[in-house]
Amino acid sequence: MKQFYHLSMLFLIVIGLTFSCPIRVYATENATSNTDSTSTTDVTSDNTTTDTDSAFVFAFTKTPQTLKATKKYSLKTNAPSDAIVTYSVSNEKYATITKKGVLKGKRVGTVTVSATYAGQTIQCKVKIKGKKTIYIDPGHQRYADLSTEPIGPGSSTRKEKMTGGATGASTGIPEYKFTLTISKKLKTALEQKGYAVVLSRTKHNVKMGNIARAKKGNNSGADICIRIHADSFSSSSARGASVLYASSSNPYYAGKYAKKSKKLATKLLDEYCDATGIYKRGIVVRNDLTGTNWSKMPTVLIECGFMSNPTEDRKLNNTDFQKKMTKGMVNGIDAYFGYTK
Ligand SMILES: [Zn+2]
Repeated sequence: MKQFYHLSMLFLIVIGLTFSCPIRVYATENATSNTDSTSTTDVTSDNTTTDTDSAFVFAFTKTPQTLKATKKYSLKTNAPSDAIVTYSVSNEKYATITKKGVLKGKRVGTVTVSATYAGQTIQCKVKIKGKKTIYIDPGHQRYADLSTEPIGPGSSTRKEKMTGGATGASTGIPEYKFTLTISKKLKTALEQKGYAVVLSRTKHNVKMGNIARAKKGNNSGADICIRIHADSFSSSSARGASVLYASSSNPYYAGKYAKKSKKLATKLLDEYCDATGIYKRGIVVRNDLTGTNWSKMPTVLIECGFMSNPTEDRKLNNTDFQKKMTKGMVNGIDAYFGYTK
């Protein structure tokens, strides 16, 4: 049986060689005739040079499809190692490239990388992704929704889907407008630093309860969630900022992220108060916030200041002051992730 097997294998190899050889010959003949026809049409040019050019096709051998902002990637081509390849990117806002072909992501967007060598330019597209993704929830909306929803998964306690929010004692600006203004400015500031940002809403006239907002965040692929609000109190002298977070005794999703949320709350409040000079009330445990309880990531709610306090209200709604506010928030987020300022 064994002997028969060996014989049959030998037979197959012989057959294989017999059939494969003519195919190779045919391919070579084809290539030769092509070269012949090219050289006939190109009589005046230097034949040697033409042959070299057509033989070498400049190409990338190693490129990234995506690259995170702040990360580096060394592109490779098939040019000889001592050759000078000229690299460039289509838009330096999104990424830069060194003379040696090291691409560095800067902010979310797409760049075309070009490389030139031996009179040939080749290109590839690279998608720059956020170094981290931040979900921002601008509190409230134009119309309150006082129908109720459970404050956490499986909870029998219910609260309004979306309350009305505060109104500026001096400016008359409603909280929903203030929160969206700050959120959009924070988004721009974060994107400049290489973060990807997703907003729960970009308009005033939406109908989004707190569960809907948390779920949108859960589906966004974000690393952290920042909820933007402003405070209000019966006494106009109440002032200062606080950051609310859920503790480890929280029985809902938020409980799992208590440690990270507390860290985020601390960093965010410290840097926010540092940049703005707003009085620091402190970080506060809250396990009754629907939008936090349903969130599956480190989540905090910042009360930027008191809109019921005329002085603070004017500050919060002042364009120059808002730059300090967003700067402080960006610094806090950077500090949470361990990025240096
Ligand atoms: Zn609010």
